[in-house]
Amino acid sequence: MESYARGPEFALTAKTAPQVFSDTAQRFATREALVVPHQKIRLTWNQLAEEVEKTARGLTGLGLVPGDRVGVWATNCAEWIYLQLGCAQAGLVLVNVNPAYRAQELAYVLKRSGMKALVLRAFDSRSNYRRILEEAGSVPPVVYLGEESWDKMIANGVDVPALDASCHDVLNIQYTSGTTGSPKGVLLTHHNLVNNGKIIAHGLRYSEQDRVCSPVPMYHCFGCVIGTMAVIASGAALILPAPGFDPLATMQAIHDERATSIYGVPTMFIAQLTHPEFSRFDFTSLRTGVMAGAPCPIEVMNRIVKDMHCSQMTIMYGQTECSPIITMASVDDSVELRVSTVGCTCPETEIKIVSTEGAVVPIGEQGELCTRGYANMKGYDQDPDATARAVDKDGWLHTGDLATMRPDGYFRITGRLKDMIIRGGENSIRARWRSFFIRIPRSPMCRWSGCPMRGSARRWLPGLS
Ligand code: AMP
Repeated sequence: MESYARGPEFALTAKTAPQVFSDTAQRFATREALVVPHQKIRLTWNQLAEEVEKTARGLTGLGLVPGDRVGVWATNCAEWIYLQLGCAQAGLVLVNVNPAYRAQELAYVLKRSGMKALVLRAFDSRSNYRRILEEAGSVPPVVYLGEESWDKMIANGVDVPALDASCHDVLNIQYTSGTTGSPKGVLLTHHNLVNNGKIIAHGLRYSEQDRVCSPVPMYHCFGCVIGTMAVIASGAALILPAPGFDPLATMQAIHDERATSIYGVPTMFIAQLTHPEFSRFDFTSLRTGVMAGAPCPIEVMNRIVKDMHCSQMTIMYGQTECSPIITMASVDDSVELRVSTVGCTCPETEIKIVSTEGAVVPIGEQGELCTRGYANMKGYDQDPDATARAVDKDGWLHTGDLATMRPDGYFRITGRLKDMIIRGGENSIRARWRSFFIRIPRSPMCRWSGCPMRGSARRWLPGLS
């Protein structure tokens, strides 16, 4: 038996993101859609639709036309969602910009994406973005969140032109480290993202009764797809507990908002479970959630099920290039199955494991996990060579992850072909650090070492030797 599996059939939609959002907003008009405690914002679907409309009009008023690219460079906030859905409504392509970027990476992404406008917050506890932007040099027109330029943009809004959008148009560009050091812009369409959200919502059994606590970053596919796209597919409410991950704020939000679902990478759960104030919070509202990004130790999953009352916690696997989710554990799977595998193939998706020679390997044998289906990216932005290296002529995306397939169709991620480490859920390509250190005069050798840090199980730091 070969390591090949095809997921079940599923009714994929040809609707665009604004169509799905509009349907949900009308259907659940007066139910809660978005809660952002750190901004004291609480909106129903009706109210969220108004904010999205204002944002779409404001962006159009800036002179942006359908197909133009708009960067969003901010930690988690309500405006991130207005911009995500507002860009879609105005036919604009959202470009996610990582808040961790410094001048060199920002300059690269600004130039490479050709964005026509950038929306950012001037500064927060993490960074002074205004200063980094100045260092980056040539910049497109900017709008500052929470400042006069944002208010002016909203006040000067104009009617959005009638759109003739296809579900196969690019909706979003998400930058990923790729395997060679420079960030690559992954082109994702409405069809990719809307359907991935729909399949995730289906797998988690989301309904309008659910309340999803999402402390993961919005700039990453975990936040903007497993978060936003899954809630617009289902009518569940989205709760953004803090600008960046904060275990205390996350637990407070679960408690106060009676969250039914919780997201995170394993280190985020460990930070909550080991927090000295953990026992102060009521987690009994939790039912499900998503853990992804790295393997989960069984002790952690056992505690999530027992102490966080999250009996239907799921494990998902994928990567930005496939929208992102391609395997998922079922909410009914045993805990043992949920920690020892990353689930089985998602609907409308094919997966095979291949040897270095490209042959499909027998069940149980390790090889590279490849995938094909509706979720595969349109390609890397303006980089046909990199696209051709990642997606072969038969449409198989080579993930760079090593995996095995079990006879029951469940997959285990066993390693990585990529020269990458995952730090608190965020990927770091060693070549990127190397290219950074190499620019420092008389730079010493660079090596990696792990060291324990407060609030996280472990962090990797590039060290000098
Ligand atoms: P990204 O494109 O930033 O979402 O990173 C995707 C990468 O994270 C994958 O290629 C894997 O190496 C890793 N990854 C994602 N989910 C899991 C998981 N459940 N278990 C192990 N590794 C994972």
